[in-house]
Amino acid sequence: MRKLGTPDDPYDVIGLGFGPSNIALAIAAQEIAPDRSCLFLERNPDTRWHEGMLIDGARMQISFLKDLVSLRNLASPFTFLQYEKAKGRLEKFVNLAEFRPTRLEFQDYLRWVAGQFAGVVRYRSDVRAVAPARGEDGGLSLFRVTVTDLATGDAVEYHARNLVHALGGVPRVPDAVTLGPTVVHSSAFLSTVPGSLTDHDRQWEFAVTGDGQSAGEITHYLLDRYRNARVHLILPGYSLRATDNNPFANEQFFEANADEFYYRNEANRRDYAASLRSTNYGVVEAGFLDDLYRLVYADEVRGRTRLVVHDGSRLTRAAADDTGVRIGVEDRFGGGTRTLRADILVLATGYRRELDPVMYRELLPYVDTDGAGRPVVSRDHRVRTTGELTCGLYVQGFAEATHGLGDTLLSLLPFRSKQIITAITKDGGSLARAVASARPEAVSDAATLVALIDGCGTGTLVSAGPGQFPVATRLPLVLDRGRGRHGVLFGVLGPADPQLPLLDGGRALVMFQPQTAPAGNPMFVDVRGCARLVTDRDRIAAHLARLDPAASGPAVGVELEIESLHGRYSPSPEPRVARTESERQS
Ligand code: NAP
Repeated sequence: MRKLGTPDDPYDVIGLGFGPSNIALAIAAQEIAPDRSCLFLERNPDTRWHEGMLIDGARMQISFLKDLVSLRNLASPFTFLQYEKAKGRLEKFVNLAEFRPTRLEFQDYLRWVAGQFAGVVRYRSDVRAVAPARGEDGGLSLFRVTVTDLATGDAVEYHARNLVHALGGVPRVPDAVTLGPTVVHSSAFLSTVPGSLTDHDRQWEFAVTGDGQSAGEITHYLLDRYRNARVHLILPGYSLRATDNNPFANEQFFEANADEFYYRNEANRRDYAASLRSTNYGVVEAGFLDDLYRLVYADEVRGRTRLVVHDGSRLTRAAADDTGVRIGVEDRFGGGTRTLRADILVLATGYRRELDPVMYRELLPYVDTDGAGRPVVSRDHRVRTTGELTCGLYVQGFAEATHGLGDTLLSLLPFRSKQIITAITKDGGSLARAVASARPEAVSDAATLVALIDGCGTGTLVSAGPGQFPVATRLPLVLDRGRGRHGVLFGVLGPADPQLPLLDGGRALVMFQPQTAPAGNPMFVDVRGCARLVTDRDRIAAHLARLDPAASGPAVGVELEIESLHGRYSPSPEPRVARTESERQS
């Protein structure tokens, strides 16, 4: 009997990590593609969500309605309200009139959902390596994931056609600083500091670095729990600042706006990301700032100052010694460097996100990167890889530069998980391979290919298909080079076209007739990126007006983002793979 997870019978999806992103993915997989085999690998013995910052009373910064699934499927059995009902607290929760539950309760919700997927999760599984592996077709169509089973110490291997990486960020630690008993990152705050500092009356000297929500909450915690302690807060700006959560700015976390963001050009994205930074980074929730200020003021009334703010400053070094830690603080405006001493330094310096170079050592050579060395990630969260690697690497939370600030947050999880599952379900990977082997004359240079496409005028979408099978659609397309990485192909369908459900989220093969190619030899372009149905009439009309001023707006448009291109001249006039659905069934 074949064993699931072996090269002969790989999983459809392996998820690395089982935090909010991959729990949302498990829900989406069950609701959208229940026939796909999934496995999730998680290092912890159960679901833990930023445990080091689960400070008593700390609240979510978003509404409970932004749970793992509600905004995608209100009828799902995995919504936050279903959780309240299952716990017998629904009426009491409603009675609270509270949109922002405590983080502790949200973790409990995550655990409740995770518990219902226990059969597809291997806890205590520490992922050590991800490497490409050869599938039945002889190509690099599989991932091999090597895991240490923390319960037994054994190394275990699993194989999959698709991998969804959702391992979260790693603590950002300034250069020349080493973590240790007296230098702690905020992510480990609760698991280290309260346990090691049990004397709550002592005149502790604490230092906290950073100006975000973590810095605010930790500073409040230390001043509140250690009544004689002093806290040095080292922050880069003039003062702590409030989170910009005005409803207009918050619209950036809407599904459609995240989509818009992706299709902006790079300079535009950078500019918008900078102007929206204060919706999330380096800011503290306004109500919480008021609480902190009240605490500080109460001290002033008692005639003492316990919060010392080192504004305009950056922490540059920290060296542990017998009495605690000596800290170098540099004035950002030329005022020199000074040294502070503290019993404990807490780095509330945030997180960085990158694919672990050790874990991904064997895979990284196949990953396309941008000018800044980041993996290039398509709209549907698939990492662009070289043509040799045909299995799908997806990432959750590692593409903020192209997908916007919502990429690392909870708001978009219901939508992102749907996009990934849809892409995996509709990925015509075998189609691309069939085309590749049938047509050896490839054009791999994207710029040349785009120029050829441009010269063709219109192209025809000849195939796109769910699962592993191509179907013919024959949709005329025109290229709009004003948007997207290489451009966006735009076509118009009748609203009742039976191909509509097949197109949405699907990969595509497009046929062009290049004027420079020998007559009868069309050029096939495997459009890596996804097809998106456009139903907004105004948007369709606007696209058409740009492309063909004489046209009027029909009901449904299709956009194909050209994300990565593999073009081939066909040696035969009729593509073997472009069979119709009826041919397939006969
Ligand atoms: P953050 O918002 O990224 O803030 C870290 C800050 O530390 C940055 O502004 C950074 O400034 C500063 N920093 C880094 N190195 C520094 C140095 N050497 N000296 C001085 N300052 C330095 O991190 P966070 O507060 O941990 O928040 C991360 C995410 O978790 C946010 O989304 C936040 O909302 C969330 N969070 C939520 C809760 C809650 O829901 N209750 C609690 C905590 C955190 P530069 O960028 O200029 O380097």
